[in-house]
Amino acid sequence: MRIFKTESAYKKYLENISVSNKKIGFVPTMGALHEGHLKLIEESKKKSILTVCSIFVNPTQFNNPEDLSKYPITLEADILKLEKAGCDVLFLPDVETIYPNESSRNRHYDLGNLEMILEGAFRPGHFQGVCMVVETLLQIVHPHFLFLGEKDFQQCKVIERLVELKNIPTTIITVPTMREESGLAMSSRNKRLSENEKIVASKLYESLAKIRAGLHAGMQFSKLQAQEITHLEEAGFQVEYLELASAKNLEITSEYHSDNPQLVLIAASLQSVRLIDNLFV
Ligand code: AMP
Repeated sequence: MRIFKTESAYKKYLENISVSNKKIGFVPTMGALHEGHLKLIEESKKKSILTVCSIFVNPTQFNNPEDLSKYPITLEADILKLEKAGCDVLFLPDVETIYPNESSRNRHYDLGNLEMILEGAFRPGHFQGVCMVVETLLQIVHPHFLFLGEKDFQQCKVIERLVELKNIPTTIITVPTMREESGLAMSSRNKRLSENEKIVASKLYESLAKIRAGLHAGMQFSKLQAQEITHLEEAGFQVEYLELASAKNLEITSEYHSDNPQLVLIAASLQSVRLIDNLFV
């Protein structure tokens, strides 16, 4: 695997290898890699000639400074995992490459209602930060395919919007959430949980699965929502939201429609570790 820290080194490399019909697949990450990330690499390798992964802990998407300072960094292990997975290129930019000046940190994207709801409501400015880093990475890496995890479903919608707004010639491919055997969605933040807390954390998925089963059995969403928020709070979570929404535009609803694609989304903190998950119903 080749590792590049600057745009010019990466561009030079691309010029020298003649990837015919350069089918570049790109997997942006913030590192502390787990099998969820590696699944994206695997999907990219199926579709692309060259798979590029980036690791960059993006400061502008952290609305909480403590979350940024505690974000796990495991670069050596990440490099080994990427090599084993057959990733071709690791792009490791520094902050100055992504944000060369003040104005590069002050870009604004019209994300409409998408940034007012769910993650947007609880993490002000988060999706603006996501758009800034992804726009710059896409300009540098120039991928044909961009692989994103459905675990961050709202982020997928935001990046779809970014690609549309900026007319970026990249096709987005979303990949289902990888889970531990317990159902817990894999996440870099799980590294901050003890083994016992991980068992408790798997209740998030249990709640989502119970809501799905309840909806299929004809129960009202509002009743299921209240019941599961109580269960989770009793287990030690602080629940920020637990909502049913359209998978098309994330419009929040309390009506379950078996013929429309919908999902249940949750954000909750356990011992100050903020976790998110979702499940198609
Ligand atoms: P992150 O490093 O958390 O910014 O995530 C980088 C990419 O990996 C994003 O597209 C995430 O949605 C995706 N991802 C994170 N966790 C998972 C998971 N458990 N399964 C599949 N994809 C994931």
